[in-house]
Amino acid sequence: MRYLFFIIISFSLSFANAHIFVYHRFADDRHQSANTSIKELTKQFEYFKKHNYKVVPLDTILDKLKNKETIPSNWIALTIDDAYKSFYTSGLDIFKKYNYPFTLYVYVEATDKRYGDFMSWEQLKDASKYGTIGLHSYAHPRLQNLSKKEIIKDTQKAYDIFIKNLNIIPTTYAYPYGEYTQDVKSILINNFNFKALLNQSTGSVNKNTRLDDIPRIALVGKVNIEHKLRYKSFNVKWYEPKEFPKNGILKKVYAKVDKKIKHLKLYITSEGWRDVEVKNGIVDIPLNIYLKRARTRVMLGTDVFTISNNIINKVKRKGLNNVK
Ligand SMILES: [Zn+2]
Repeated sequence: MRYLFFIIISFSLSFANAHIFVYHRFADDRHQSANTSIKELTKQFEYFKKHNYKVVPLDTILDKLKNKETIPSNWIALTIDDAYKSFYTSGLDIFKKYNYPFTLYVYVEATDKRYGDFMSWEQLKDASKYGTIGLHSYAHPRLQNLSKKEIIKDTQKAYDIFIKNLNIIPTTYAYPYGEYTQDVKSILINNFNFKALLNQSTGSVNKNTRLDDIPRIALVGKVNIEHKLRYKSFNVKWYEPKEFPKNGILKKVYAKVDKKIKHLKLYITSEGWRDVEVKNGIVDIPLNIYLKRARTRVMLGTDVFTISNNIINKVKRKGLNNVK
């Protein structure tokens, strides 16, 4: 009975959902806000193994997305940002032990200029035997604050140095800080040939997920991995907000959802959750909220785990007008 209930819920509200996680540092107590201990990593990997999750290469999920095929719910892809040395000295052994593939995103300037905390090109070459290496910008800027020219320059520089040193063509790109705007996204799509662009937000991947907007759930410190795996994507067509409001005031939320839905939960950073009514598949909520955080999350969901995540980032420079 419980099983049947689960099936009905799954089919009525969402599609099969895989999860993509992002790690940063390993076994590095100096940086608690980005660290995963080996004990914690092992605990998560044991959980995947015990509960029949399959850790697949990111590309395997991307191929399914490209072909608009259903992605099994027990699939997981693991990514690591920045290519800190601690992945090579501490994390990699655990990935090897479990035979789990990964995609490692390189902050090219840090590796190229041999900043102390980062992997060398040699170490990246060695790591590439067990996983895939992707691009994570040259100078790790907040892309939304750069001009179109600066974004192209940073990315091209990263791309060229990456290929020269690794002899690998990077096929995916992870936004620095996971942050972007619609303009940043179109600049990368129109000028580079990446198979996928990855952000950092709570969500899951199903056949409706866009290749230029792949959500990754950050895993830092001790996490309840069972909860993280419960996240499912809820299908929402967002109209408002699409960008961080220029005067910082969020005036309304406007979105379209399945017509069968009558009630939803709305979340706004610093405001928390509220219940909202849906009429004929339209969510139209007038608001007047001054957004205090430069990175604001607006979510709609049928519950706190079945959500559509809309992250808007404040643009601190005027460089990016009329780029399209
Ligand atoms: Zn980063």
